[in-house]
Amino acid sequence: AIMPTLLSGIANGARQGILFKNGSQLEMMGKVRAIAFDKTGTLTTGIVQVFQVISAGNYSQADVLKVAATVESVSEHAIGKAIVKAAVDLNWVSAVEVQAIPGQGIIGINNMQQVIVGNAAFVQKHVTNLPEELQKSASVLEEEGKTVVWVAQGGMGRQGGQGGQGGQGGKKQIPISPLSSPSPLSPPSLSSAEVIGLIALADEVRAEAAATIARLKALGVEQIVMLTGDNQRTADSVAQSVGINEVYAELLPEDKLDVIRRLQKQYKTVAMVGDGINDAPALAQASIGIAMGVAGSDVALETADIVLMADRLEKLAVAMDLGRRSHGIIK
Ligand code: ADP
Ligand code: MG
Repeated sequence: AIMPTLLSGIANGARQGILFKNGSQLEMMGKVRAIAFDKTGTLTTGIVQVFQVISAGNYSQADVLKVAATVESVSEHAIGKAIVKAAVDLNWVSAVEVQAIPGQGIIGINNMQQVIVGNAAFVQKHVTNLPEELQKSASVLEEEGKTVVWVAQGGMGRQGGQGGQGGQGGKKQIPISPLSSPSPLSPPSLSSAEVIGLIALADEVRAEAAATIARLKALGVEQIVMLTGDNQRTADSVAQSVGINEVYAELLPEDKLDVIRRLQKQYKTVAMVGDGINDAPALAQASIGIAMGVAGSDVALETADIVLMADRLEKLAVAMDLGRRSHGIIK
């Protein structure tokens, strides 16, 4: 049976917007020695906005936004929502066969062409090169803490020529020649995809993030790290502004889980704070998974042991305090 002190700890937490799913997690929270934070939506607000669009070749900035929006229109990712919002007054229709790849990007078919939007590593799998000029601009933006996603579009190989949905969008779109179809035995080729531009997104660091990190250190948490799927430069910039000096960037969801495992070997009781589908494996692996209640995806909320109902990071210190006070009283 749950002891009265645990119950009052849980009730106390609930009153302050901290949802403990059960009493043992309240106790566990008091023992945490290392904490891993996701970046986007956790240390930052997750309210992502398009900051700058840079087009390549003959494409316009509007072309870049439009083409990206065709695939992002089905995205649940904050990046996707921001792009769609910025493209709302432009004329485009949703792509078909859209597939989101967590932690990497999104892909689909628009106007008989493949559309690829995502981080550099992901887009690089589909194009021959990232234009050098744009790479330079990307580095500068990333050092300022902006997230850069690349937009590419290109030929469909032998799939070209099927169904002509969604044509009205880009008057600028160059149809790839349906006549030069490769041998029917060869797989669909993506080699003709080309980068048409990049989109830099801004996402503000939560106002209370730096103070919360400082408070957790003061409470004796030995190790605080950041885990993100975003690139290293962007991650370093955000980490520096909140006072975290250990950063693991360009991680896939499974990589986040691996870092948690490694931390557990050294620190035993490890908390993970996250909001996304991409954080779910790490939230499940952590001794204590903590989800952001507002920014959090359904999967994160289900997987977590503790939910910060109002996304207020400072409640982490409150939760730790409640956890510690529950110790020694419960047998
Ligand atoms: P984080 O760990 O910071 O929450 P994610 O793991 O969700 O970030 O995403 C990592 C990176 O993958 C993003 O910074 C972005 O470059 C790319 N990415 C993920 N989803 C999308 C999407 N829907 N559109 C474009 N890029 C995406
Ligand atoms: Mg996130």
